Amino acid sequence: MKKLGRCNHEYEGNHTYTAICPECEVKIYGEFANLEGTEKQVNWAQDIRQEKLKELATSLLARGKAEDMDEKGLAVTRKLAQIKEAKFWIDNRVAGVNELLKVGMKA
Ligand SMILES: [Zn+2]
Repeated sequence: MKKLGRCNHEYEGNHTYTAICPECEVKIYGEFANLEGTEKQVNWAQDIRQEKLKELATSLLARGKAEDMDEKGLAVTRKLAQIKEAKFWIDNRVAGVNELLKVGMKA
């Protein structure tokens, strides 16, 4: 299904909500760190990280185009993507966007 992302790019996806195209997602997150922990923790944390960073990216993009996105928010999102401890994501699985930004600034 063709979707028009919040970033105004078309992409293939099965989301029913307006999200961000995969290319813009990569631009926003940068590289993901390899998570460390038990296999169970890592698998769980990967799902949480995916969901949380998507939430964060969507919220940041709501404030403007990918090109003029809030620099601080962008830096924090990339910092979060670089966190290696699986436990971090498990501990923050119910954190909201603002909470994550706050935690990320201190990370
Ligand atoms: Zn895009």
